[in-house]
Amino acid sequence: MDYNYLAELLFPQITELPHDVEAKYPPRQLPEGAKVTRFAPSPTGFVHFGGLFPSTVGERLAHQSGGVFYLRIEDTDAKREVEGAAEGLIKTLAKYGINFDEGAILDEDGKISDCGNYGPYKQSLRGPIYQVYAKQLVREGKAYPCFTTEEELDELHAVNKKEEIKNTDWLAEAEAKRAEMLARRNFTIEEVEEHLKAGHPFVLRILANGDPEKKIKFTDLVKGTLEIPENDEDFVLLKSDGIPTYHFAHAVDDHLMGTTHVIRGEEWLPSLAKHIQLFQFLGFKLPKYMHIAQIMRIDENGNKKKLSKRDMGANMDDYTSMGYCPEAVCEYVMTLLNSNYEEWHMQNPDLPYTRFPFNIKKMSTSGCLFDFAKLNDVSKNVISRMTKEKVYELSSQWAKDFDPELYEQMSANPEYTKSIFAIGRGGKKPRKDIALWGDVRGYISLFYDKLFAVTDAYDEKFSKADIKLTLEEFLKTFDMADDSNAWFDKIKDIADMLGYASDMKAYKQNPEAYKGNVSDISMFIRIAVTGKLNSPDMYSVMQILGYETVAKRINDMIKSL
Ligand code: GLU
Repeated sequence: MDYNYLAELLFPQITELPHDVEAKYPPRQLPEGAKVTRFAPSPTGFVHFGGLFPSTVGERLAHQSGGVFYLRIEDTDAKREVEGAAEGLIKTLAKYGINFDEGAILDEDGKISDCGNYGPYKQSLRGPIYQVYAKQLVREGKAYPCFTTEEELDELHAVNKKEEIKNTDWLAEAEAKRAEMLARRNFTIEEVEEHLKAGHPFVLRILANGDPEKKIKFTDLVKGTLEIPENDEDFVLLKSDGIPTYHFAHAVDDHLMGTTHVIRGEEWLPSLAKHIQLFQFLGFKLPKYMHIAQIMRIDENGNKKKLSKRDMGANMDDYTSMGYCPEAVCEYVMTLLNSNYEEWHMQNPDLPYTRFPFNIKKMSTSGCLFDFAKLNDVSKNVISRMTKEKVYELSSQWAKDFDPELYEQMSANPEYTKSIFAIGRGGKKPRKDIALWGDVRGYISLFYDKLFAVTDAYDEKFSKADIKLTLEEFLKTFDMADDSNAWFDKIKDIADMLGYASDMKAYKQNPEAYKGNVSDISMFIRIAVTGKLNSPDMYSVMQILGYETVAKRINDMIKSL
């Protein structure tokens, strides 16, 4: 067969040769060891938590090595594309510290535009580039057209399906597939000419030369050394509309854009043999690969499952509405990605995660487990280290969008609100009450009459008379000018008076001798003043609330008893 002639028949409009294209994509001038990585999402909807993994790894490895991190929009599947998804994606990733040096970026009008010398970075704009390489493969007899229409393919699959029910013999099925493929390869130039004349569409397939009996030894930087069977499937390179498949676009783009490390989800591992073959056919140097393990979760029955689209925690927009700080989410992602992150963080509590020396060797080869409890722990730590001003700023920003009633209260008197956030902040062991901004209402509502409610009740085992007496006695001597020692001494006096131990040591030695102890007396007051069994330091709370409010709440409680 005259492959040059075939190439001209199929791609008459393509006049450039690969070396013309290569000239426009010269090798990058980067220091030794600099990594070029990319994030290459398909804009099919929201950003999935799983997407933070390859993007964080790519960002870290590039920026840690003085390399380049770029964004490529893989929009070759128009059917699955969602309007505005790419723009949303860029904004969301930026929130999580994932900033690109080059690629698709947002311009001032919030529309996607290109930045950098290796574009276009949107695959739908790269049609002719792919076709230059497609034409070259045809010229070299490494790819061929296939005129079987989608309807015919559907019919074929339908027949196969029926056959499958009758015949579960996989060997027979494999042979049938092989026969189908050989038949496809068997065509003449005249047939091609006729199809083209009749305006029939075609897809371009690779002419696979692999032998699945033979294994390729391959080292993935995350998964280690793998042995994978060679590819013998004539997979599609260009679809009938001239748009490339993922496989083909991956090879052409990552080659031209100078990617050194392809970081992607492990769901692409089964396609690796195809990609290795394609890079070989095209004469491209194979990049290094890192296949990142999937994110798992524990389901209701205690089994490990993939964190799927619909699971809580999958959609990054949910993190915004729940009020997680991006900084906390980033740290959590780090703990999942690198097993030594937590240790490093403990030794360097004040350094940002970006100073952590990210290490490929410390990545998990199997799935990471997603766990809200762990995320909340990390997040509480992050927020506990913030200044009261920062907590105020971030939480009120959140409340403005997601809890307007709370926002109104918080912003009416910012200094008052900041004094609440100051409780237990700044010391060696700061309080850890807030994991997400959605927790703020529950934490601070006691400080606002409009939001205050008594939500916890006294245990029935305590005598109402004792509670009432405690509250009355407390109010009699309550003085805002007392320091915390004097204030607490007065509570101890009430304990002694009512037969509750004021000295915990004495109580522990002989609990039967008392009705209870001073912490019960404190609790009587706490529920009246804060509405809850647990609250921040009660002395500080009262200092913020002021005499009038404390007295009113105590009196209200006395009346209700
Ligand atoms: N568009 C592919 C995906 O979203 C990209 C995989 C890759 O990074 O190569 O899965």
